[in-house]
Amino acid sequence: MAGFRVLPIDSKLAEAVRSTLKSPQYGHPAHVETASGYGPCRACLKQFRAGEEDRILFTFNPFQGLDEYPSPGPVFIHAKSCAGFSKSGQFPEELKSLPLTLEAYGENRWIIARERPSAAEIESSVERLLQTSGVLYIHVRNTEAGCFIARIERNSGTTENLLLSTCS
Ligand SMILES: [Zn+2]
Repeated sequence: MAGFRVLPIDSKLAEAVRSTLKSPQYGHPAHVETASGYGPCRACLKQFRAGEEDRILFTFNPFQGLDEYPSPGPVFIHAKSCAGFSKSGQFPEELKSLPLTLEAYGENRWIIARERPSAAEIESSVERLLQTSGVLYIHVRNTEAGCFIARIERNSGTTENLLLSTCS
């Protein structure tokens, strides 16, 4: 296996949302509510326990630091601090059962390939997309809602440093 990492939203950005209750990138007010759906949380990449946990909805552009053309959209995180997902080479267990679309991007945000793997096929799908010529990173989206969930890159990728530098 070539190795990959699933990257949640930056932890500093998540903390900024919690402390200001605004979108750090756009300034729009964030919305706090008791979770009525599974989410997931874009920081720890776990599903919400509906009716039990509070979550924050805010506007997020997942292309910041990657491309000049933004695509702002709504995302949720836990209202309380949670540990950002950081396991290398693993796909988050609680995401596997969700309806997922993997979008593999090349230069200038061009979508080179797109797959909708079943739970059992996800890791092999990720490996295949990352081995496709020209692919720089993958976005994971919810197939039903269309919302951004997480980014995937090769273990040796440099795009994370790029992103971190714009979020600090
Ligand atoms: Zn969380």
